[in-house]
Amino acid sequence: MKQVLKIVQKLKPQAMHAAANSYSPYSGFQVGAAVCGREGTVYGGCNVENASLGITQCAERCAISTAISCGEKRGTLAELLIYTPGSKAHAPCGACRQVMHELMAEDSVVVSCCDTDDVMAWTRSEYLPDAFTPESLLDEMNPAKSS
Ligand SMILES: [Zn+2]
Repeated sequence: MKQVLKIVQKLKPQAMHAAANSYSPYSGFQVGAAVCGREGTVYGGCNVENASLGITQCAERCAISTAISCGEKRGTLAELLIYTPGSKAHAPCGACRQVMHELMAEDSVVVSCCDTDDVMAWTRSEYLPDAFTPESLLDEMNPAKSS
């Protein structure tokens, strides 16, 4: 729990800033995220909705995409914080869990917070047990090599 509070203190300002920039005219649900890369660089992201709702991008994936575009590599992202204005912390969606699992560090932690003390936190195996991974895909493409 001490680690969770430390992550909230470290990443919440950037996640709140990102949430304020959210483009969410359809849901009105502002979300900000901040992810910490190697050497402590923090990258923010917000949800970016679209009239074609299926292509809406969540804040978590926006922050991770920003981190990757700035040079972070698979496995270098250690902590990700999700912030939603209001009194309740919210869990990441399934698509974000898949992206976080593939790109964040094995020992990474994901935390969700809001404007109250309500906080949720997950390890990688907690937010996506039995994940489909790049290694799963390679095993299927090269069945002889997987055994
Ligand atoms: Zn999502």
